Amino acid sequence: MAELLLEIKNLKKYYGKGESQVKALDGVSFNVYKGEMLVLLGNSGCGKSTLLNIIGGMDSPTEGEVLLNGIDITRYKDRELTRYRKEKIGFIFQFYNLLPDLTALENVRMSLSKKDEQHLGEKALESVGLGDNKMKQYPSQMSGGEQQRVSIARALVKGAEIILCDEPTGALDDKTGRKILELLQEIVREKGQTMVIVTHTTPIADMADRVLTLRNGKIEKERVNEHPIDAKDIVW
Ligand code: ADP
Ligand code: MG
Repeated sequence: MAELLLEIKNLKKYYGKGESQVKALDGVSFNVYKGEMLVLLGNSGCGKSTLLNIIGGMDSPTEGEVLLNGIDITRYKDRELTRYRKEKIGFIFQFYNLLPDLTALENVRMSLSKKDEQHLGEKALESVGLGDNKMKQYPSQMSGGEQQRVSIARALVKGAEIILCDEPTGALDDKTGRKILELLQEIVREKGQTMVIVTHTTPIADMADRVLTLRNGKIEKERVNEHPIDAKDIVW
């Protein structure tokens, strides 16, 4: 039996009031199991980022719960929420979100709190294929794919339980995007990480263990892939 990690219950996020109200999420419920790769698929504007941001503790819902090991994180006070984000969540963004004035290594080390953990930064960068000479470069000196690798290293370095990816290949060309997906798949398969990827790119769903399709703030369907394909075989 798969081990339950997250329970998303009847999540709603409404913006505005009356006629102009936008229901970004309108009653979303699903589970996330330990070690799975879950893809949330949906067109632009269907609520993907809103959902991921709430799961990641960066936004709060109008209604509903996000239970991690049975504890509702949407009720956390600021300090608990900060700790949750820092310790439990690794977030990978479409546009990498690296700090421009810091080198690759400094960016990765930013997510480590203790001094005695600083050496983990190099290890994390090596594990995503960025060696010695790359570590000292600034984001502006790196390609998009390299910057995304730095952001993946930053998400991994602290040993976060859940990796959330919001359109991780959205800013990359197909070939580079595929390399990034291969890396993400390797992380789930080899490190046993739990990963949720949101994307509007349908073929990416074929590499997932499970696929949820979102539409207008609701889950429209769920699909289990008995045989997820290797990321390198994704047909774009
Ligand atoms: P996706 O990531 O799937 O493209 P989003 O979660 O970004 O979708 O947005 C879902 C809906 O909520 C969209 O209609 C969007 O315009 C709206 N929305 C998102 N953020 C805000 C906000 N801060 N204020 C008002 N509407 C918002
Ligand atoms: Mg989005």
